[in-house]
Amino acid sequence: MDRLGSRDIYSIILLAKRYIAENREELSRLDSVIGDGDFGININRGFELAIERLSTIDPDKTDIGTILMTVANALLESVGGASGPLFGGLFMNMAMTSLGKYEVDLATIANMFNDGLKGVREIGGGTMPGDKTLIDSLYPAVEALQQAVRENRDIVAAFKDALIAAERGAKATANMVAKRGRASYLGVRSIGHQDPGATAIYLIIKAFHDYTSGKR
Ligand code: ADP
Ligand code: MG
Repeated sequence: MDRLGSRDIYSIILLAKRYIAENREELSRLDSVIGDGDFGININRGFELAIERLSTIDPDKTDIGTILMTVANALLESVGGASGPLFGGLFMNMAMTSLGKYEVDLATIANMFNDGLKGVREIGGGTMPGDKTLIDSLYPAVEALQQAVRENRDIVAAFKDALIAAERGAKATANMVAKRGRASYLGVRSIGHQDPGATAIYLIIKAFHDYTSGKR
């Protein structure tokens, strides 16, 4: 596989929505130990609105940027909390990099994710890896994609590495002290609990992985 088309991206978003829905209670449970417990419900509501709006467009006649922009706007309008602007910003930046494109190769996909990462870090106020946020799974996933581009690997192999990196990154947040958001109020008491935002990013990367490796 050397390209993803509009219909592929559309299908991946549907799959991501399913994974978020299946894990919404776990995501809220994670947020309840280090935050206020609303994350799973909120992010799920956002993806539900995104899917509702995507159902009115024809994926074969719509560019990838417009599909991702639809997701971004739904998240920005309906998620709320800290994560609304963060996840909305992620998809918005990915959309800007793929506007007008009906197909993207791995180099473009890596750029989309890297621009998304940059957007989230800016919106978060300069969030760094190690701050115990969604950056901790997104950053290593982006690095894995960029590495795959340098090594001329294909999209399937790239998302295999990205998934491993995102999962490891999400799990590593359990040992971190939160420096951002509500979890930071807990200080060292945030240690021992995985970050819900990092977990949601893992689920989104898993949707790209499972789709590209033909598992779904
Ligand atoms: P809140 O309920 O505090 O408004 P949410 O529950 O909507 O926040 O989102 C919490 C998630 O947002 C966290 O798990 C974390 O991954 C992410 N997050 C919070 N603040 C930041 C930040 N400044 N930069 C990056 N990610 C952040
Ligand atoms: Mg919360």
